[in-house]
This record gives sequence, C-alpha cells and structure tokens, in this order.
Amino acid sequence: MLSTMQDGQLSLGRLLRHGTTVHSESEVITWTGSEARRETYGELGKHAAKLANALRSLGITGDQRVGTFMWNNAEHMAAYLAIPAMGAVLHTLNIRLFPEQLVFVANHAEDQVVIVDGTLVPLLAKQLPELKTVRHVIVANGDASTLPAPDGVQVHSYDELLAGQPDTFDWPEVDERSAAAMCYTSGTTGDPKGVAYSHRSIWLHSMQVTMTDSMRLAQHDKALAIVPMFHAMAWGMPYAALMVGASLLMPDRFLQPAPIAQMLDAEKPTFAGAVPTIWQGLLSHLDANPQDISHLREVVVGGSAAPPSLMHAFEDRYNVPILHAWGMTETSPLGSVARPPVSATGEKAWDYRYTQGRFPASVSARLIGDNGEELPWDNESVGELEVQGPWIAASYYGGKAGDEPDPEKFHDGWLRTGDVGKISPDGYLTLTDRAKDVIKSGGEWISSVDLENQVMAHPAVAEAAVVGIPDEKWDERPLVAVVLKEGQSVTAEELREFLSDKVAKWQLPENWTFVDEVPKTSVGKFDKKRLRAFHSEGKLDVSQL
Ligand code: ADP
Repeated sequence: MLSTMQDGQLSLGRLLRHGTTVHSESEVITWTGSEARRETYGELGKHAAKLANALRSLGITGDQRVGTFMWNNAEHMAAYLAIPAMGAVLHTLNIRLFPEQLVFVANHAEDQVVIVDGTLVPLLAKQLPELKTVRHVIVANGDASTLPAPDGVQVHSYDELLAGQPDTFDWPEVDERSAAAMCYTSGTTGDPKGVAYSHRSIWLHSMQVTMTDSMRLAQHDKALAIVPMFHAMAWGMPYAALMVGASLLMPDRFLQPAPIAQMLDAEKPTFAGAVPTIWQGLLSHLDANPQDISHLREVVVGGSAAPPSLMHAFEDRYNVPILHAWGMTETSPLGSVARPPVSATGEKAWDYRYTQGRFPASVSARLIGDNGEELPWDNESVGELEVQGPWIAASYYGGKAGDEPDPEKFHDGWLRTGDVGKISPDGYLTLTDRAKDVIKSGGEWISSVDLENQVMAHPAVAEAAVVGIPDEKWDERPLVAVVLKEGQSVTAEELREFLSDKVAKWQLPENWTFVDEVPKTSVGKFDKKRLRAFHSEGKLDVSQL
C-alpha cells in the first residue's frame, strides 16, 4: 500500500476547538419571548468547558449517556458540544413523547444524567422515578427546587453547578467511529428506535449541510433552527453552523406563529428549517398580519412532503424560496435536497423543486420492487427506497441486547427507508407515501401525498391529510380530512369538483371529513395512525359523496 495522508480524527472536540476560536464572534442567540440573549461562539466554548467539567464532577466517564430534555437554546447548544467532545454520548430526549415512550428511551439508552429546562420540569418530574439509570438531574433556565428528587437521584441547579468550574477542558482525542450522539425516531409508525451517530458521521454530514448545492449554510447566515434539537439533531444545523461560523437563532419555547413572526422581525434570520405544518401556521398568521420576511434567503422544509401550494405561497407572496429536502433520523438526517439542474428554468425548475430531490454523492440509493428486485430509475417504477452511506445508520442501538441489525429495516448493508416512490433518470426522488400509509384501491395504489397536495392547493384549505379506510368493494378508499382556513368555507362536493381535472377519476375521493385540526405527531407531522384510529372508532363525521 502506498503511504498517504495523516489520519486525524474527525471528532467533535476538533469541531468545538475550531468553531469557538476561528468563529469566536459568531453567536448563538436565544429568544426569550420579547428579546434575545446572545452568546458568542467564543463564550460558548467556555460555557461548554464548564459543562464538561461539571459532568466529570458528577462522575460521567467513557461513553456514558447524558440526556437533554430541552428546548432549542444556548444551554442545549453547550450540551451538544460538551457531551460528545468530552467522549460521552449526547442523548436528545423528545419532550413530546408519550410518558411510557420517554421512560422506554431513557432506560434503553441508560441515561446517567438528564439536563432539563426549568419550564419542562413538570413534564419530567412525573416520569423521573421510573428512569432507572438516572443519578443526576441538572435544571437549566429555572428553579431546581421545584423538582422533587426521587431516591438515589440528586437535583442540581445548572448555574450553581457550572459557576465554580474551570472554563477550559482538555478535550480528549476521540475515535471518530465512536458514538457522539443518540436520537430515537419519533415513532410516527411504531415504537421509537435508537440511532447512534458517530463523530465521523456528524462531521461528514455537517460538511454536506454547508455545501453549495445542499443547504448552503455559510458564515454570513443567521440560521433559525425551529426544528427541535431532539428531532434528528435539528437537521444538522447546530454542528454545521459551528463548522462555518453561521450564527444560530434559537426559538426556545416560543414556537407559535405569532412569536416566530416577532423573532423574525427582531432578528431577521437569513435561513430557517422546520416541518411543513410550522410554515403552514406561519403563513396563515402572515396573511392576517403582513410582514416583510424577505431577509430569509431560503428556508428548508422536510420531515413530510412540502405541499407545492405552500412553496408557491412563500415564494410568490413573500419572496422566500422554500428548499424541499428529504431525510430521516436514520440518515442523520440529510438524504436528498431538491435543487433543480441548471438546465431547468421556469415551470420545469418548479417541477424539480416539488420532488424530494437528488442524493448527495455520499448517499447511494436504490429502489426495490415487491419481489425484492431492483427497479430502474425511469420516473415510473415505484418501489421502496433504500439508502447506504457514511452517515446512514447501520443498525438500531440495541441496548443491553447488543446491536443486531433488524432485518425489517437493514439488509445487505442498506437501510430500508419504509418510503415508497420513484426516481427519475437524472436522480430526482419523488415519494408517493410511507409504505405504512399506502392506499390500495382495487389493486392500484393511490398516493396520499399527491391527493393532499392537490386538496391543499384549494384557496379555502389550510391543511389536508389523506388516509386509506376499509372498503368492501375496493379494499381501501381514501378519506380526506380537511382543515379550513379561518373565515373560509367550501363543501366536500366543491372540493371533489376542484380535483376532478387534477387526478384520475378512479382516485377521486368520496369520503370527506372537516376537522378543526389534523392530529400531529411529537415533531409536528400529520399523525395518520391516529387519524385512522379516529375513523375506526367512529369519531369522525364523514360525508360520503
Ligand atoms: P418518524 O419516522 O418517526 O416520523 P423521522 O423524523 O425520522 O421520524 O421521519 C422520517 C420520515 O419522514 C421519512 O422516512 C419520510 O417518511 C418522512 N419524510 C421526511 N422528509 C420528507 C419529505 N420531504 N417528503 C415526504 N416525506 C418525508
């Protein structure tokens, strides 16, 4: 073998040293409801060192897990850096999990310490006695005395614990293939599954996030991370920001449309990321309370399909381009990004932008048919998407039982995404459904995503979710759950008529229900499992045309 290059580790300690010195003037800005508190990356470096020293003083060693039960804020950012850089493993706990799921994930990951935001103390307190491995809880941004300590658990005030700690830390050289962080899937279609990211996978993924044809995060950006830091690592924004010196605007607990509009106005971020339902909510707010948001050079939307009507509303009315992206907790999460090829302009460019996009060079993809055969990229053959690459999970974290790749999700080194769609010859992915949400009517598939997008294009519709319901004749037929915009009205007959020249006749839904709200998952996606349950329990008022 020829001798080649040095073999420095792509570790988060290296990233921390870089970001907090080279980009020491960039800032993490936390919204407090009416104004922002600011911390430079230089200060953040000292903050992280104090936190690492504090965690060592509590006995955290090796790759023990430290949980965070927090909003997006500067303290969460310090945890993002300190915990992996000291060699331990950051476990971001989803604050909106059902209680039994929270208990399951914290016990499964064997969290030793949990850092909790003061406003979330009441949520954690109820489950804390059941978290078997937790020995210490640290209360940030609030009053530690409000949390009763169960037997064997010590409760600390974040500020007091960090106050006496040195503001430097001898960050160890960590093996880049060791675990840096863990995130459990949000359980949209089943129990949460743990994904352990390595230092190397986070490093490579961060580089991708900053690439020009990807999310393009750069030094001149101020990035608003609405997507929670417990949802697929806030889509890679925190680490990527530190890599290039982009400032971060953190919304803390102020996630409703009005406070988001207020922080947009006050801080004028240039970039933002969130799931479609957040943008839909913001859009309704802006339509009633107009405001210039053109300081946003681009916003990334993923987690669910971005409706074309939403993309047009932001671009045509607010001069803010939406970048559609696809990913999963298991894919770090960046899997594909919809930037059109240079040759496509006008309407053609839009057609590319509606898709889930192209895969970066580090993500290989294939489509698998019903009989396990590989399907061509002809933009017609529909199958399950499988992906492979250095920031794609190789297995779920098995806990004490060990990491055996689950054959339902992993085979021959590929991740089975559970997403169904097609790929064009030039590599653009179009997802039609999750395998578990597919509607099979008379032997043919109906894409719920496509129907949703078409219904949401109606000017009176705020949101529309489509699920399959049992049908004697056709096995399944689509049911459309519609949320109307405030002050608007439209009938099921009118909506069906509106669809009549947009979808094939046999796909036209006859089952319609008008609801105040589509049930949402813990990360703000349409919860189709619950919608189907509502229907089977007779809780929906369905009109049949
Ligand atoms: P959960 O599976 O619990 O919702 P994730 O947040 O990891 O947790 O979700 C990943 C899934 O979200 C993908 O497998 C896919 O079904 C869906 N998804 C993500 N981005 C998109 C997108 N742009 N369009 C359609 N579906 C998407």
